Amino acid sequence: ASEDKKEHVQEFKLDPDSELRFEVESKGEKVFLILKAGFAEVFGTELVKGKQYEFTAGAKIAVFSWQGCTVELKGKTDVSYVARETPMVIYCNCHAALEDMRCDAEKENKRGPIAMLVGPCDVGKSTVCRILLNYAVRMGRRPLFVDLDVGQGQISVPGTIGALLIERPASLDEGFSQEAPLVYNFGHKTPQLNSTLFNMLFTQLANSVKEKIETNKKTKASGVIINTCGWVKGEGYKHLIQAAKAFEVDVILVLDQERLYNELVRDMPNFIKVVFLPKSGGVVERSQSARAESRDQRIREYFYGTPKNSAYPHSFDIKWSEIKIFKIGGPALPDSCLPLGMKAEDHLTKVVALTPNPGMLHHLLAVSYATKEDEELILSHVAGFVCVTNIDTERQILTLLSPQPKPLPNNLLVLSELQFMDSH
Ligand code: ATP
Repeated sequence: ASEDKKEHVQEFKLDPDSELRFEVESKGEKVFLILKAGFAEVFGTELVKGKQYEFTAGAKIAVFSWQGCTVELKGKTDVSYVARETPMVIYCNCHAALEDMRCDAEKENKRGPIAMLVGPCDVGKSTVCRILLNYAVRMGRRPLFVDLDVGQGQISVPGTIGALLIERPASLDEGFSQEAPLVYNFGHKTPQLNSTLFNMLFTQLANSVKEKIETNKKTKASGVIINTCGWVKGEGYKHLIQAAKAFEVDVILVLDQERLYNELVRDMPNFIKVVFLPKSGGVVERSQSARAESRDQRIREYFYGTPKNSAYPHSFDIKWSEIKIFKIGGPALPDSCLPLGMKAEDHLTKVVALTPNPGMLHHLLAVSYATKEDEELILSHVAGFVCVTNIDTERQILTLLSPQPKPLPNNLLVLSELQFMDSH
């Protein structure tokens, strides 16, 4: 076995401005990264010399060095190579420009830059957000991170949008610390499935973010970084324009796609800076199944934590009479069947009460902060999520998996389309 291990130790010497890229694919495989000499960072988070960092299946990592370094990889990687061409200098300039805006904002006690990252799928939007946030927080800033990517977002579980105050750099393996995020439940994995609702929710989030930013002087000057999803055509493009307006963005960073860049230059008012950024050659395209797997993993981590920080969720029964379950959006009716004065889109934001039924098995339920059973259920942010692990129709009991013990913080729950098979 020791020989086996020896075989899998690789040492890399990185010149200044180059990066080591590696991927861990095989399930159950672990890869360890150690910085031996010099300085290096992973997506903007500095490595500590001599510390062993662990990566598991699904990890796609770039270790970048401004000054040059030596790193060691232990374990079986599926890909590992050193790249000399990276867009890091451009991303760093972008950070410097945002930093200038923050300094100006600070002097005049004004709001710092609100920047939105846009671009098609798999161009590294989330990664660039992470780099910019890490650089900001390393300079002592406290920016807000907003994630509008309902499919592959970095806040809470998939099917949500939200905001998170960034107070320290992302951890290499676990990302940003998820303390008290502001989360809204959308309930679908792509915005296409209910555009009207998506629009309502990000507008609501934008209003909350504007309030939040005013309450903290440091955050106000630090500004906001907004991640979006890769749907940039047709209705998706309209969402981007509406989000830019709702969040009152100052800067739009367009990754990779010149067509999108040109459209935005054409359609945005002059006071919004639209900037083109090249994508990194290291960004890995993910298949539909890889995306589904990463959604699944995010939900698993929500309940069970990560290998480094495991969590112990609770499982408990609850009587149907103790809770009320709703869904947002009723079945579409043809125009001729609509009550007078109702528009066809109205059904998309209808609050429908549901009786627990076997179809809910494995679904996530959002625990709402709403106090009334009306529109408030749509626009309230959520306390968190539980998962339905059993339904006993005879005894009228639901079994829930929950990060918190009983009782639930509220008895109003909203059904999400996202599912999780609890295999623990
Ligand atoms: P989506 O289509 O989900 O919106 P995205 O545009 O946000 O994707 P990312 O999630 O940032 O893209 O990147 C896709 C994958 O590529 C991630 O797993 C990320 O870790 C990896 N990645 C990004 N940059 C690099 C790099 N320079 N070297 C190696 N891997 C990278």
